[in-house]
Amino acid sequence: TNDPAETGPAADGETSTEGDAAGQAGEGESFAIALLLPESKTTRYEAFDRPLFEAAIAEQCPECTVIYSNADQDPAQQQEQAESALAQGIDVMVLDVVDATAGEAIVNNAKGQGVPVVAYDRLVAGADYYVSFDNAAVGELQAQTLLDMLEAEGTTSGDLVMINGSPTDGNAALFKEGAHGVFDASEFNIVAEFDTPDWSPDAAQQWMEGQLSALDMDSVVGVYAANDGTAGGAVTAMKGGGIEPLPPVTGQDAELAGIQRIVAGDQALTIYKAIVPEAEDAATAALALARGETPESSTELEGVPSTLLDPVAVTADNIMDTVVADGFYTVEDICTAE
Ligand code: BGC
Repeated sequence: TNDPAETGPAADGETSTEGDAAGQAGEGESFAIALLLPESKTTRYEAFDRPLFEAAIAEQCPECTVIYSNADQDPAQQQEQAESALAQGIDVMVLDVVDATAGEAIVNNAKGQGVPVVAYDRLVAGADYYVSFDNAAVGELQAQTLLDMLEAEGTTSGDLVMINGSPTDGNAALFKEGAHGVFDASEFNIVAEFDTPDWSPDAAQQWMEGQLSALDMDSVVGVYAANDGTAGGAVTAMKGGGIEPLPPVTGQDAELAGIQRIVAGDQALTIYKAIVPEAEDAATAALALARGETPESSTELEGVPSTLLDPVAVTADNIMDTVVADGFYTVEDICTAE
């Protein structure tokens, strides 16, 4: 049924050693897999995570089905979506939680019904497996790359503003912690800091608009924004307030709009987290768990066997060598005017 030559990335032994050859669907195997993603304002989920996960499942298990839902940042809605998926008789759940605490109830509920859970990108206690990036390293890389760029132009001290992610997302706490570790050890001062509810770009923009009058913007030499959505909000606010030139702004996700702002000189950097291996790893692990096997992991976080991938900083200097070389975007994608 399954041509081994077509098992693709799964054939490199990402799953357990038990049972079928790694990544190959058994004869007639047909599992139902729930994929629950947290929001849609950040473009990665609908543009990359969902289609890449579905493609990886289709390749590794052609008879399997994916039941997809997106919670639009609402933990109660995610809870309902999880219950609905369980009622449909899923074999495994892949969960990117809106709220790390509320997510524990979802995991307990699933496991109570014998359904294993893969925590996707955001850790949730009690999951059977977790795949993500080294998220503290993401925060460090954002901060260090910003300071390196400032130093390269001769700025070794000054005021910084920090726009962090959602207080209910454990990743946001790690990004913030990683970035603080770098900033707090430097000569730069954090003069204002904000935790953005729901990672909302609009909320980040509004907060930044308030800072334009609250702060002496002439002494602000850099803006740490935790992802490209919040970076976009900060840039819009500063442009609207006539700040010129813009201080360098960080980001994360290598969203197309973020890369385009880097090319235009409106954003200094973003962090590229390769979603292809993340989604493929989640698919491979979900299928292993559905078969009753143990997915291969390289570390453990809060008792959950985990795989953490490496983030990469992207600036105007290495767009070609990173997101373009990796096939994440073509030059045409980037250069198509908005
Ligand atoms: C993800 C980021 C994303 C953010 C907002 C985080 O948990 O790791 O890639 O930008 O959530 O959705």
